[in-house]
Amino acid sequence: MHKVHHIKCKTDNCYIVESEGNAILVDTGSGEFYDVVAKECRKYNLRLIVLTHVHFDHAENAAKLSEEFDVPVAFNKSDEELFDDYDAQPLMSYGLIGRIVLGLSLKVLRETKVRKPEKIVYISDGDDLSSYGIDAKVIALPGHTDGSIGVDVDGQSLLVGDALDNWISPATGHLYNNIENLKESAKKIRSLGDRTIYYGHGNPTANKFKLLK
Ligand SMILES: [Zn+2]
Repeated sequence: MHKVHHIKCKTDNCYIVESEGNAILVDTGSGEFYDVVAKECRKYNLRLIVLTHVHFDHAENAAKLSEEFDVPVAFNKSDEELFDDYDAQPLMSYGLIGRIVLGLSLKVLRETKVRKPEKIVYISDGDDLSSYGIDAKVIALPGHTDGSIGVDVDGQSLLVGDALDNWISPATGHLYNNIENLKESAKKIRSLGDRTIYYGHGNPTANKFKLLK
């Protein structure tokens, strides 16, 4: 049995997934929340940091946490270019919510340089995280970024990063680099059936959300 602990960083979410004395951190928040996230991590035997994708609000604390806790950072290689350059995969949006969120985040996405960690584990679709003590699988969810991934824990809890979001109501993520891939990823999530969905932004829900057609 596992537990998902929510770390709220204003509008951004990080999660600690804990099982029988082991823990992984999924996403790390932006720099201003370092102390909040580190304090939570100190309560557990942290084995790994996983990034759902490499945007500052998910990845900015990764390198520093990796050093403090002496654990590697796992992410998909297709996002590696984003450590140096957000513009390598520029974001677009759909709908009013998308326009507002993108408008508020674009400047800081461009200006924040996310430091690349030294200890890296590349992860991709189907990878098993059980060697870190958590019964979880990596699921490729490209579209928001090329290397976006989800973490499926025990076939019960699915952490989706920004493939979906729940700003006001749960929906296909409003920001994308590739809309066709994003739509496919949202369908893939839905096809997994019964799960609790943990979003990068917004509160968890059942696997019911507005699918962008
Ligand atoms: Zn993002």
